[in-house]
Amino acid sequence: MDDNFSLASEVCKNCGLCCSGALFGNAPLQEGEETLATELGIKPVVDEDGSGAFNLPCPHLDGTACSIYPDRLHVCGDYHCLLSSSVLEGETSYEDAVNYVESAKEQAEWLIENAAYKNLKQGEGLTLSDYQAFFKAEYDEGQFNLRYYQNYFLYKLQVQVQEEPVSKEDLAYAKKTLEYIKLINGNFRETSMLEDYTQLIIDIENQDFNAEN
Ligand code: SF4
Ligand code: SF4
Repeated sequence: MDDNFSLASEVCKNCGLCCSGALFGNAPLQEGEETLATELGIKPVVDEDGSGAFNLPCPHLDGTACSIYPDRLHVCGDYHCLLSSSVLEGETSYEDAVNYVESAKEQAEWLIENAAYKNLKQGEGLTLSDYQAFFKAEYDEGQFNLRYYQNYFLYKLQVQVQEEPVSKEDLAYAKKTLEYIKLINGNFRETSMLEDYTQLIIDIENQDFNAEN
């Protein structure tokens, strides 16, 4: 088990996806941990269910490693994704885990670099413009959260598919997102987004407008 623990730690050191916003929008704080978080330079927020949390990406993520490792928050020490747990249990080899991590990082980087907010036209409507400005600012400040963006992009296309054609670029981006979510869902965490994005792509491909293009 000790050996497996070292292997899992090594995988994590070169991953960082659970701190970067590629898997989660935020991370939970323990009750009363807000003061410690503030002292560490991490801004506490209130989650949708009223509990304490902090937004990701974490300001202490340095590349793929934690820059405050000995002082990190409770959730950080406790959390193991499906892959990390599987390495700990000896069910996934170190080499396979590294391959999953490298593929996921590569795909996440592509999705961040090519986020389709860049394709939105100004003045498309208050909500879209607001979101566009929000994600653009996050991106410019190195605080882009891929998970939140995936939620937004899903919602935007679910609305659009009812009313007008979805562009080929957005369809291609949605397919890349689905590819990434498939990899995440089986290996890092479970997510209802797999079902949502699968259905979205079926709906886009069935669009009457789309069939003509
Ligand atoms: S996503 Fe999993 S493998 Fe990657 S750093 Fe987090 S716990 Fe470790
Ligand atoms: S404190 Fe360290 S381990 Fe915790 S979210 Fe931030 S970078 Fe990750």
